[in-house]
Amino acid sequence: MSYVVGLTGGIGSGKSTVANLFAELGVEVIDADLIAREVVEPGEPALAAIAEHFGPDVIDGGGRLDRRALRERVFAAPAQKDWLNALLHPLIRERMIAACTAARSPYCLLVVPLLVENRLTTLTDRVLVVDVSPEQQLARTMKRDRSDEQQIRAIMAAQASREQRLAAADDVVDNNDPDLAGIKAAVTALHQKYLALAMQG
Ligand code: ATP
Repeated sequence: MSYVVGLTGGIGSGKSTVANLFAELGVEVIDADLIAREVVEPGEPALAAIAEHFGPDVIDGGGRLDRRALRERVFAAPAQKDWLNALLHPLIRERMIAACTAARSPYCLLVVPLLVENRLTTLTDRVLVVDVSPEQQLARTMKRDRSDEQQIRAIMAAQASREQRLAAADDVVDNNDPDLAGIKAAVTALHQKYLALAMQG
């Protein structure tokens, strides 16, 4: 098992942006969102279980999960979300562990948006939080996704607060500055620190 640094932050905080800077330094990046998609790809047992539970309408013409249809089902019956989480969370967790175990760099970065909310800090040796003001979060997400303000505010309200996230942090990257030079320098310094920690085991 490689030394695992968990990277988290709220919606639009800059997790992908910061993760890319670590990847440029040769660090293996494991993305929980990608893994969450992989476990429901065609041929995966979880997709069959979902189709059996919710009916064939949640599968599209191409045999893939129809996320919109599934979202509607879950929205109509919130207890179904627990069912879905009970199915998917252990599978996602297992794959994240496998990916961290297979990582070849001295340490790996495990990017998990809901690291704090889902108590996945048990998988990490250290927690790095990407921190931005709620105003920046909102403005950047609106610009990126062209989604409306109320929708993003609702997601922000459902996630851990900035304070809760910071309370779980061992390290923090301040991503408020639009000039990435300072953020790059901070990542380089953290990289040195993580290399040293990984060597200590
Ligand atoms: P999500 O969890 O919603 O997928 P994220 O935390 O991965 O988001 P990013 O996609 O990296 O966040 O960043 C959100 C948006 O803000 C992107 O459009 C990105 O280009 C922009 N962004 C990131 N960092 C900065 C910065 N320091 N200055 C200006 N814009 C930034």
